[in-house]
Amino acid sequence: MSPVRVRISRDNVKSEFVRLVNEISGQNVLNCYQCGRCSAGCPLTFAMRLLPNQVIRLVQLGLEEEALSTNTPWVCASCMTCYARCPRGVDLAKVMEALRAIRLRPGVADRVRLKDIPEDALARLPQQGLVSGLRKLTG
Ligand code: SF4
Ligand code: SF4
Repeated sequence: MSPVRVRISRDNVKSEFVRLVNEISGQNVLNCYQCGRCSAGCPLTFAMRLLPNQVIRLVQLGLEEEALSTNTPWVCASCMTCYARCPRGVDLAKVMEALRAIRLRPGVADRVRLKDIPEDALARLPQQGLVSGLRKLTG
């Protein structure tokens, strides 16, 4: 990968992309302090263009295009070795899953927001349909 010139700013770190990755994955990518243990244990780095910790750094910096264009999330086998080794409890497999979801759903993310559904509609809607819709249509 050619060097990426990064302008670190509050806007990048607090960008919509970082918020979305955190929301979908249920993780806080800013907890990662780049120790590299995840990458040291990952069995598939030989096929990755960027190491898992490099990808999470791109996410931390709000570099959406760079994070979404690398093959790392697609090579990841969700084996969770990284999660077992992470001293900060970051589940990288879930972060990779979030990146795949964002990549596959352009324009669809956040179409359904639970908080936007009126309470009376929530009570009436079939629960199975609701959960299914949220899973499929919420980025
Ligand atoms: S092991 Fe955890 S804290 Fe260390 S680089 Fe990987 S994700 Fe970050
Ligand atoms: S879950 Fe993915 S990134 Fe983590 S160790 Fe396994 S293959 Fe590597």
